[in-house]
Amino acid sequence: MRTSQPQTIYLKDYKVPPFLVDHVDLRFELFEEGARVYNSMEIRRNPDAESGQSLELDGEGLELEGLTLNGLPLADDDFEVTSGGLRVDKVSDKFTLGVVTWILPQDNTRLEGLYKSSGMFCTQCEAEGFRWITYFPDRPDVMARFRTRVEADKARYPVLLSNGNDVEKGDLEDGRHFVTWEDPFPKPCYLFALVAGDLAEKKDTFTTQSGREIDLRMYVEPRNAAKCDHALDSLKRSMRWDEQIYGREYDLDIFMIVAVDDFNMGAMENKGLNIFNSSCVLATPDTATDLAFQRIEAIVAHEYFHNWSGNRVTCRDWFQLSLKEGFTVFRDSQFSSDMGSPTVKRIEDATLLRTAQFAEDSGPMAHPVRPDSYIEISNFYTLTVYEKGAEVVRMIHTLLGEEDFRKGSDLYFERHDGQAVTTDDFVKAMEDASGRDLTQFRRWYQQAGTPIVDVSDAYDPDAKTYTLTLRQRIPATPGQETKQPQHIPFALGLVGEHGEDLPLKLQGEDDAPAQRVLDLTDEQQTFVFHDVAAQPVPSLLRGFSAPVKVHYPWTRDQLLFLMSHDSDGFNRWDAGQRLAVDVIQSMVDEPQERTVDPRLVTAFRQLLSDTDLDQALVAKMLQLPSEAYLIELADEADVQAIHKARTRVLNQLALELRDELVACYLRNREDGPYEPTPQAIARRSLKNTALAWLLHINDEEGRMLARQQFENAGNMTDQSGALRALVNSEFEEDRDTALASFYDRFREDPQVVEQWFAIQASSVRAGTLPAVEALLTHEAFDWKNPNKIRSVIGAFAGQNLANFHATDGSGYRFLAQHILSLDSSNPQIAARLVSPLTRWRNYSQAYRDGMRAALEQIHAKPDLSKDVYEVVHKSLKG
Ligand SMILES: [Zn+2]
Repeated sequence: MRTSQPQTIYLKDYKVPPFLVDHVDLRFELFEEGARVYNSMEIRRNPDAESGQSLELDGEGLELEGLTLNGLPLADDDFEVTSGGLRVDKVSDKFTLGVVTWILPQDNTRLEGLYKSSGMFCTQCEAEGFRWITYFPDRPDVMARFRTRVEADKARYPVLLSNGNDVEKGDLEDGRHFVTWEDPFPKPCYLFALVAGDLAEKKDTFTTQSGREIDLRMYVEPRNAAKCDHALDSLKRSMRWDEQIYGREYDLDIFMIVAVDDFNMGAMENKGLNIFNSSCVLATPDTATDLAFQRIEAIVAHEYFHNWSGNRVTCRDWFQLSLKEGFTVFRDSQFSSDMGSPTVKRIEDATLLRTAQFAEDSGPMAHPVRPDSYIEISNFYTLTVYEKGAEVVRMIHTLLGEEDFRKGSDLYFERHDGQAVTTDDFVKAMEDASGRDLTQFRRWYQQAGTPIVDVSDAYDPDAKTYTLTLRQRIPATPGQETKQPQHIPFALGLVGEHGEDLPLKLQGEDDAPAQRVLDLTDEQQTFVFHDVAAQPVPSLLRGFSAPVKVHYPWTRDQLLFLMSHDSDGFNRWDAGQRLAVDVIQSMVDEPQERTVDPRLVTAFRQLLSDTDLDQALVAKMLQLPSEAYLIELADEADVQAIHKARTRVLNQLALELRDELVACYLRNREDGPYEPTPQAIARRSLKNTALAWLLHINDEEGRMLARQQFENAGNMTDQSGALRALVNSEFEEDRDTALASFYDRFREDPQVVEQWFAIQASSVRAGTLPAVEALLTHEAFDWKNPNKIRSVIGAFAGQNLANFHATDGSGYRFLAQHILSLDSSNPQIAARLVSPLTRWRNYSQAYRDGMRAALEQIHAKPDLSKDVYEVVHKSLKG
């Protein structure tokens, strides 16, 4: 067992920083055997802090080579190197501290701080990586102006980058050179970045609304030079959109994007120098799927939008992480919605939330959008902070309306520019600009758990009134036994017998809108609508207006009705999902039931032939609820039973709709040039869904079509769609041939090889674990590369649920074994892999013991990292 208990950090203990840093002068000498960092800080006492405190700086894994105060060396008894940093007792109110440290980037497998990836130096400092570079007050509320000089061998590292504008460059002795960068905007050290390497440069420009010309530069390894266009186009669209929708203009003269192969996260918004995981930025139609194209556009936008929501206005402390992430995810989802289909984007966001965030919110790691405590902040880059945080901002947008929300965001940026603030400051700006009281609304930031809204209704044909009663309850979560009612904006429509929206008129109103948002603020509220001519079907929580679960006793006929009549596209999709969930669940409960409800078959037949409806929506509606979602909905999930039931439904649908699937496939086949437009993406999605279903029933014609598509595909979406369908089929020979030929063609391209790994690791065929284990010894697998780990181990444990939850426990043992070995090399990645085990209590007995045993095995490792310790410990404790 570990010797010392990792420390918990509490929000209530927050104190302003005792010292502020006005200016930092950094000099990096980069070598193959290490790096020397010269750090000169202009420091002063914070007038708002308690007086007389010692100077304490954070630092980890550093070799201290020199320390000076106002230019004079410090004597050994004037300072102390502590376990987590450096303390200097006797300092005046204003002074310059010089620190020289020696670090080993080439041995840094944690990928925090300064490290090497494919021969280049790069950094990742959020949340607490800067302390692995030099001694510094590593907290976001210390904002300094940075000047950074980078020195390295000129032949190996011709490109030297840091934040801001390059102000000086030149040659040095021994074939070395330097570049000096100056960032005029004060920033926390988590936004510091440095890159040095032999990189190809792609250039573009953007003219801002005020007429300034910005240099856009993208840096990639030379072999990736052809993969930059989509990211640069996405960047320009994001810059224009942020000007138009939020009035935010870019502020530096240069904006740079660098692609790095080894990266723990997706991308990082360092000021003026965004660093991206290669898989989240590089794309050509030949190597990236539609999904990747859309994801890249969204991530480029997200990181760019941070320049205002995150960098110009930043977080006071890490409990406020959602201040920048929730708001920025909301902004990037608005952007994606404007670039594509708003309904489809809403469906995608709600699916992620309902499947994964709701699971997190009901598990042992449940925490509020603004957490109260943490052991390791890296564990709080969660769906709750990001996605639920974005939903909270979306609800403010719904409550205030477009115009007042914009006034609120303008006020927020104006009031807090250059400051480190809290989620409460954000809400306050929204309140002040709109005059709306959001006191109760703030509970969304404070209370964990997904609210459940129970809905009951009654129609009175004589009085022509329709009465709707809404009750809200929030389940207990760790540390929060009882909850207060939250302010839930509940969008609603009433659908009449011909599919028309009935007027929604409350007592005493003249206006009767066809859709309205009810303010649910009490535990229970009743709304009576007047002049309702006939019994309506309620369309509840339209557009998923709040991140809640709605319980209402819909009949299957009502759901079928909404599926084809609701004017709200989201609820049309949702009705189809609820119907499919109901049908699948009934087959779990009654294994003797042999056939699927024929009404579901009819509904899907209509969808497959409906060419009038938005085809992007049809493509979404054809997706059956995922196993992960069905597990989330179950009280004590029996994974194998859920898997079998869902497979039986899919089988029968595919068998009965076989001819329609072939027709849908042929109708959506096209040979034109690749375009990532919503229409073209919908066509490919429909075609590939039809193909997957045909191969699911081992259809011979499907097999022929898949082989043809695989051989002739003009883009990666079709190529990998065919490969995935074959890999999941029983056509062993075709499968092996396709896998070998795919690898042969793309072996030099790491991003495509990652897709190849993931397709195999998530294969639903029974007994794939030995094949997944074999992938770990494949020549292209690399334990130091997080993308490879995610594409094999992550894909297996996260997407291949029937195999991962094999009842002999083999999947759990496999995962535990690899978490243990990754714990020492990359604790952040190891901690994230634990998540499929955390909700062991929500599974039936056959799974629970094996999951708990795996957690206990991990927990028992001596010197477990605090990253993994926190997740495992909380999971076992519950
Ligand atoms: Zn972000």
